[in-house]
Amino acid sequence: MIVVMRAGASEAMIETVVERVEQSGMKAHVIVGTERTVIAAAGEERDETEEVLQSTPGVDKVLPVLAPYKIASRETKAEPTVVRTRDLVVGGGNVGVIAGPCSVESEEQIVAAAKAVQATGAKGLRGGAFKPRTSPYSFQGMKEEGLKLLAAAREETGLAVVTEVMTPEHVDLVAGYADVLQIGARNMQNYHLLQAVGETRHPVLLKRGPSATIDEFLLAAEYVLDRGNPHVMLCERGVRTFETHTRFTLPLATVPYLQERTHLPVVIDPSHGTGIASLVPSMCRAAVAVGCDGLIVEMHPDPSKAVSDAAQTIDPTSFAETVTECRRVAEAVGRSME
Ligand code: PEP
Ligand code: MN
Repeated sequence: MIVVMRAGASEAMIETVVERVEQSGMKAHVIVGTERTVIAAAGEERDETEEVLQSTPGVDKVLPVLAPYKIASRETKAEPTVVRTRDLVVGGGNVGVIAGPCSVESEEQIVAAAKAVQATGAKGLRGGAFKPRTSPYSFQGMKEEGLKLLAAAREETGLAVVTEVMTPEHVDLVAGYADVLQIGARNMQNYHLLQAVGETRHPVLLKRGPSATIDEFLLAAEYVLDRGNPHVMLCERGVRTFETHTRFTLPLATVPYLQERTHLPVVIDPSHGTGIASLVPSMCRAAVAVGCDGLIVEMHPDPSKAVSDAAQTIDPTSFAETVTECRRVAEAVGRSME
């Protein structure tokens, strides 16, 4: 349920509501809006609790949240969540752009990629250091060495670093270097990992599992939010269908559908979503037209030499053209791309 405070309710009144929510065995999440504060009470609901809260000073009303994802729901928070780190802004009318190679391969490669990203005005650098690979014989990433190279590329460019963390034990290590913790599609339902990144206050880019429903996706986000980390971005990266021409099928309807249900920003990954480099620029434009809050794109200084995901990786020239085109689309739909 959510407890909507009256406009101008005091800190002490809010504190009392939080105490009463916690006394009833539920967890309280205080969401400060521009006009009012709302306290989301998550957990097992009891009728008595609702009555107690309703009569607490400063409370305007107590409402049920119908969605299973309580904190992620728009019923709890109508205002869009904007995720900011360094100069990267995702949501709130701005389309944040993150680009870089699938994997960090060398200092030369990641710094060249970072400079190519920076030259377009995009603010986020991606690069995997811990790589979840389908085959155990494929390149598994440079691990901590890769994280150090990402930090070096950030040092040179000021870009926000987005990189994947695969296990709860690595969360502190990766958070020590990264600005955004990426949860890969394969780990969307790794609940201990979701809880571990929920304990940090780092922004989290949560990728949709290739066969997860929207409710499962939002409930995965709820695991992070439930641990008190509100900085969650949802990333549609394509789902598995009967289609074999593209690597996955990229459903862009996910964007407006999610935006109706959640306040969390929605990022599109057309690289994994299609698996084909020539399709990436047009799907970027389409994603911006449909109203996405961010893009994450695989770009490599020399895609033919990429050690992972080469077929879906675009080069710096194509990326720069894509950003220019997407800015025009963003403007046409009343958004910015800074
Ligand atoms: C990636 O971003 O390189 C990646 C492994 O993506 P996904 O988890 O969506 O497959
Ligand atoms: Mn990849």
